Amino acid sequence: MNIHEYQGKEVLKQYGVAVPNGKVAYTVEEAVAAAESLGSAVTVVKAQIHAGGRGKAGGVKVAKGLEEVRTYASEILGKVLVTHQTGPEGKEVKRLLIEEGCDIRKEYYVGVVVDRATGRIVIMASEEGGTEIEEVAAATPEKIFKAVVDPAIGLQVYQARKLAYDINIPNEQVNKAVKFMLALYEAFVDKDCSIAEINPLVVTGDGNVLALDAKLNFDSNALFRHKDILELRDLDEEDEKEIEASKYDLSYIALDGNIGCMVNGAGLAMATMDIIKYYGGDPANFLDVGGGATTEKVTEAFKIILADPKVKGIFVNIFGGIMQCDIIANGVVEAAKQLGLTRPLVVRLEGTNVELGKQILAESGLNIVAADSMADGAQKIVELVQ
Ligand code: ADP
Ligand code: MG
Repeated sequence: MNIHEYQGKEVLKQYGVAVPNGKVAYTVEEAVAAAESLGSAVTVVKAQIHAGGRGKAGGVKVAKGLEEVRTYASEILGKVLVTHQTGPEGKEVKRLLIEEGCDIRKEYYVGVVVDRATGRIVIMASEEGGTEIEEVAAATPEKIFKAVVDPAIGLQVYQARKLAYDINIPNEQVNKAVKFMLALYEAFVDKDCSIAEINPLVVTGDGNVLALDAKLNFDSNALFRHKDILELRDLDEEDEKEIEASKYDLSYIALDGNIGCMVNGAGLAMATMDIIKYYGGDPANFLDVGGGATTEKVTEAFKIILADPKVKGIFVNIFGGIMQCDIIANGVVEAAKQLGLTRPLVVRLEGTNVELGKQILAESGLNIVAADSMADGAQKIVELVQ
C-alpha cells in the first residue's frame, strides 16, 4: 500500500527522521492559511499524488509570499498531473502539502528496500539526489552505494557512517546523516515497509540534514498489525476495480489491453497473459480467483471484468484442482445472466468436475466458445476481439 508524501513524513517524524515543517491542504484557502501559520519566508506548494516526478511535471512550486501560495495552490489543485509514473492519463491533484522552503546546499538519495537476492534489507545511497535513481543506476552505477543489513543486529552505526562518507556528506553533517539513516531504518522495520525512499535527502545552508521527499510503501500482508497506517489509505489513488476485487479477496490487477482474463492460480494467470501476448493479443487484467472460490466470488470477478469498458472479450481459463469446474461454470452463467453478456466469451475448463462444468455452460443458452486447450483458447479469443 502507498501513502502520500505528507503522511510519510508524519510517520518518519515519529522515529526521529528530520523533515521540514508542513501541513496538508485540501482547498486554496486552507493552503494560504497553512502557509501563514508556517510563517516561513519561502513556502513550497506540493501536489500530493501517489506518484513521483511531480517536480518536472509542474507539481512542486516555490512561493515567495502568500499571494504566490494562492496562485500556485489554485493552479495545482484539481489539475491532472502527468508524470513518468502516472501513465499518460495522469492523476488529479486533490491535496497539497504546504511546506517550509529549504535552503538546499546539496541533494542526495537514500533508499531502503527489501533485496530479493540477499533476502535482506538493503540501504542504498547516492550523491546524485533529486534525479531518478533508475537513471543513476543505468548511467553511473558506481555512484550508488549499498549496505546489507543483518536482521539479527539491525543497521550498524559503522555501516551508516561508511555510506555517509561514500556519498560525500560534508564532515560536519556526517553524524546527522548517520542518525537520519538509523531512524529511517527503524521506521522501515517497525512499520513493515517494503520501500522507504528519500529523494532528495538534503543538507541545508544552516547545516541540517532533512528529508525533502518521502515515498513509503507498506507490505500489505502486514497491514493487519498497523491500523494507523491503514487509516492513511487514499482510495482516490487506487483503481476502482482493484478496490472492488479486494473486497472479495480476489487478486486483480488492471492492465491496458482488451482481453479480460479469469483464471485460478497466480502461475496459470501469468501463463495465460503470456499465451495471449504470444498470439498477438493484449490482456486487460490479471485475475486470480484463488483456490476455494464460491459461485458468488466468481460472479463478482466476472462483473469486475465486464465493468471495464476496454474489455472486448473474455477468456476464462480454469484448471479445476481444489476449485471445481462446475462452480466456475455456475459463476460465469450467473454473472452473464445478471449483466447481459454481449462480448465474446471463450472458456477452457480442465480438471475436477469438468464434464459437469461443460454441461452447465452448454445448457445455459449463452453464446460461449469452448476451447480444448490453453493455446486453442488464447487463439480463439485473440481472433474474436480483432
Ligand atoms: P518529486 O520527486 O515528485 O519530483 P520532490 O518532493 O522530490 O518531488 O520535489 C522535487 C524537487 O523540488 C526537489 O528535488 C527539491 O529540489 C524541490 N523541493 C521539494 N520540496 C522542497 C522544499 N520544502 N524546499 C525547497 N525545495 C524543495
Ligand atoms: Mg522526489
